[in-house]
Amino acid sequence: MNMPLTMHPSNGAATRLTHGLSQPLRLLESSPRLPAHADVVVIGGGIIGAFAAYYMARRGVCVALIEKGRIGAEQSSRNWGWCRQQNRDARELPMATRSLELWEQFAADSGEDTGFSRCGLLYLSDDEAQIAQWARWRDFARTAGVTTHMLSGREATERGRATGRTWKGGVFSPSDGTADPGKASPAAAAALMKLGGTVHQNCAARGIETEGGRVSGVVTEAGTIKTRTVVYAGGAWGSSFCRQLGIRFPQATIRQTIVRVAPTTQALPEALHTTRVSVTRRSDGSYNLAISGRGRVDPTLQLLRYAPQFVPMFAKRWRNVFPGGLEGIRGGHETLARWRLDATTPMERVRILDPRPDRAAVKQTYDRAVELLPALGQAGIASAWAGFVDSTPDGVPGIGEVAGIPGFILAAGFSGHGFGIGPGAGHLIADLVTGDKPIFDPAPFNPARFAQSAWGKVADF
Ligand SMILES: Cc1cc2nc3c(=O)[nH]c(=O)nc-3n(C[C@H](O)[C@H](O)[C@H](O)COP(=O)(O)OP(=O)(O)OC[C@H]3O[C@@H](n4cnc5c(N)ncnc54)[C@H](O)[C@@H]3O)c2cc1C
Repeated sequence: MNMPLTMHPSNGAATRLTHGLSQPLRLLESSPRLPAHADVVVIGGGIIGAFAAYYMARRGVCVALIEKGRIGAEQSSRNWGWCRQQNRDARELPMATRSLELWEQFAADSGEDTGFSRCGLLYLSDDEAQIAQWARWRDFARTAGVTTHMLSGREATERGRATGRTWKGGVFSPSDGTADPGKASPAAAAALMKLGGTVHQNCAARGIETEGGRVSGVVTEAGTIKTRTVVYAGGAWGSSFCRQLGIRFPQATIRQTIVRVAPTTQALPEALHTTRVSVTRRSDGSYNLAISGRGRVDPTLQLLRYAPQFVPMFAKRWRNVFPGGLEGIRGGHETLARWRLDATTPMERVRILDPRPDRAAVKQTYDRAVELLPALGQAGIASAWAGFVDSTPDGVPGIGEVAGIPGFILAAGFSGHGFGIGPGAGHLIADLVTGDKPIFDPAPFNPARFAQSAWGKVADF
């Protein structure tokens, strides 16, 4: 059931919503009882876990979805909402394309509202090198059957007329779109419940039990669920959780900041990217503002441990990534500690990873957005928040059964792209669990690659 989300009075300063979070989020009621048994237990109620559970339930699988905090409250409600094929790495493009179809189909099948629409994404630039890079991607995308339109200077200026200035060029990807991050994961979890699945919030999974090497149960803070299959979709907590099971999963998190402004009276683009700032209309008419790729790295022991593997990633993205502070240690998600199954774990101490937004980024983002689209300055800042993007060394997620622990399926490390591809990833996970033909080739996501410390090709975007 939805709870009302009202705003504290605002004088233009960032405020928190009454449910204690700064980002809008539909709140769901949990199922009444933790089951003693389930065919599959999904750990983590972000977009990945919620869609994976939903697609399994559609096939008659008895699923319990376990979430230590609130459904969708971490990365999945903190993102821009972009669901794009545009500029996707070749490994992820099939997942992105199928996901767009699934976003539409989900609404029709479930009657739930994710706020998804194929509004198209607009990219504008004055940088010829960047425009040439987009043109190269367009040529590659054609080979995969994806249509995207390069815009001449005149066309870019016309499409970007709300900015009131001229542009050298751009791209418009008409079949891409956006969904509402405050609605999408709760919608998938609600649809799961309609199909008979159960949802358990404020319920951390502490670990798993095995019998003869195979998964035999999930130990939660509220009791044990017997099961032979676990999907672990815990986002930024993935590496720490896997460490308890002896699984090597190199992961680094980057703290990114988003600013939200109230609706304006002027018609603005639905989703606009420029190098300086990006603007996305939410389904309630307010706008998410962000600087693409900008983030802070908050040092933790886990980060230091895996730093050598992230050298190529940081070398590619360093221009926009700055040293952070204590937010990573405060979050507790990157701990090297081992925890016991019969005592409180770090996941129960931090129910929702809610890092502080970067104050400098809030100001810079807002100022740049108002400079680009002055109408955004009408109402001032409504709220601001941050989220930890969980990244793998090659920028591509790990999805698949982990060698050595039959029945344990990893689905984490979505590297800043997981929202838009959530339905496709969830469908693939369901395929792997039920043994159906995979919706697309799962090979690029095989977690076996994390066992080596070799550098893989870093995703282009
Ligand atoms: C600022 C920002 C902007 C972004 N913009 C975009 C975008 O425009 N488009 C896009 O596609 N992607 C975007 N992303 C990335 C996207 O949000 C993530 O890739 C995606 O949400 C990851 O989903 P997830 O389900 O894997 O993780 P999460 O949403 O983080 O969910 C993981 C859940 O697991 C729970 N959990 C962890 N461990 C346990 C446990 N032991 N027991 C129980 N529960 C547990 C956590 O509480 C959490 O709710 C952005 C991310 C950020 C932060």
